[in-house]
Amino acid sequence: MDAQISPITDFSKLLFLQKKTAVAWRTSTATERLDKLKELKNWISKNQTLIQQALWDDFKKPSAEADLSEIFPVTSEITHAIKHLKSWMEPAKASMPMPMFGTGAYIQFEPKGCALIISPWNYPFNLAIGPLVSALAAGCPVILKPSELTPNTSALIAQMISELFKPEEVAVCVGGVEVSQELLSLPFDHIFFTGSPKVGKIVMENAAKHLTSVTLELGGKSPTIVTSSADIADAAKKIAFGKFVNCGQTCIAPDYILVHESKKDQLIAELVLAIRDMYDPQHRGIEKSPDLARIVDLRHFSRLQSCLDDAVEKGAKVVFGGNILEDELYIEPTLLTEINPEMEIAAEEIFGPILPIITYQDIQEAIDYVNRNPKPLALYIFDSSGHTKEVLGKTSSGNAVVNDCVLHFLHNNLPFGGIGNSGLGKSHGYYGFLAFSHEKGVLKQRIGFNNATLLRPPYGLKTKKIIDSLIKWF
Ligand code: NAD
Repeated sequence: MDAQISPITDFSKLLFLQKKTAVAWRTSTATERLDKLKELKNWISKNQTLIQQALWDDFKKPSAEADLSEIFPVTSEITHAIKHLKSWMEPAKASMPMPMFGTGAYIQFEPKGCALIISPWNYPFNLAIGPLVSALAAGCPVILKPSELTPNTSALIAQMISELFKPEEVAVCVGGVEVSQELLSLPFDHIFFTGSPKVGKIVMENAAKHLTSVTLELGGKSPTIVTSSADIADAAKKIAFGKFVNCGQTCIAPDYILVHESKKDQLIAELVLAIRDMYDPQHRGIEKSPDLARIVDLRHFSRLQSCLDDAVEKGAKVVFGGNILEDELYIEPTLLTEINPEMEIAAEEIFGPILPIITYQDIQEAIDYVNRNPKPLALYIFDSSGHTKEVLGKTSSGNAVVNDCVLHFLHNNLPFGGIGNSGLGKSHGYYGFLAFSHEKGVLKQRIGFNNATLLRPPYGLKTKKIIDSLIKWF
């Protein structure tokens, strides 16, 4: 791999060039777009080991996890788009309401134009290239700003894009906050941002200056409710995987558990078993596991450490884990009980391998707990009685999963995204295509006399009667 790519610094000029491409791509055919997607998929397949290596170098992400959570979601997104793009692009017929008698109507999916994609570090390949797939499917040129915290993956992405695209089609601008801010000052046609709610607000503020549309894929505290009727062993295995994959650094990871009081002890015992089964099957110590990623950098490591210290100081009990190795940026999967609202861990998105367990007695208590916090990105419920419908009906979350967690990310036919504090707009599959498309409503009127002719001035009695009947009947 040639690591020496000259950095792009004149962003205004780059956007100016991409604006020309955007106009040309307005009429791009499905075949032209599909060719780009196929090339992208080929590159990824051929360079799978380079991607794995970059992710390992960045935060010791196990290669199987890189395949499962970074490469597969992207290739699956491409395969899905290849299969469906022609039908997505077809104008969608709009049926005719009676007052529009004699007209025809359809929705044309117009590429929004130049898109800016800003991505985070936690799934640095997946969350940069997934939205790129949707943008290319929709016919949009892209400037992509990957995270500065995963420099190896970001450099590889830049390399890949420079091999596949001209800068006026897709360009990668590597760098930190200052690069991001400079890009955000420009008049893009759409911004697709994945990251924290705090930075999401900055993105939206900047976008407002140009009335640029935004998709905000943000984070938050995703609750996991375990009811008294749940299959506890099954729930524990699924929660342990969803929580500790990527070392807990997952936007949709279960942030905390709300468990029925009667099942607390059993759940803790099963979680401990599940953690050991995954990361310490030979009893050599979890820190020796090759299957547990590390914390991305010292800043996040210290943030998690102080969050844990704060919880313990304020009365939380470590019922499992708690060991840390600063040199290795290692934090053991940790289970906490005796949580109270004064603790940081109860207020901030944890984004690491620490799992607070809170009990409830009545399901309404769990619902109230969820509703006291900002709307989460995902809500999980493990239940086999009648509580699921009640919980899904009385709470609000970006997505929800029943009797599992995090898997919805891989479902191409579901919209993925948050609500309120956890995000704005949707991604994945058709919904990703829509995020980068303007749904242009087109009405076709016949030439000469038509229904609307009867509605023109002068507004005599006859015209007024027609208008009255419109109000009365339609
Ligand atoms: P972040 O918001 O700190 O950074 C994301 C991107 O924004 C990076 O590319 C960064 O360079 C840029 N950025 C940072 N500060 C900025 C500023 N002041 N102005 C302009 N740009 C700025 O997020 P992160 O730490 O990389 O990722 C973790 C967060 O992302 C968590 O909150 C997590 O829940 C969320 N997340 C959400 C999803 C999702 O799909 N909804 C997926 C992954 C992560």
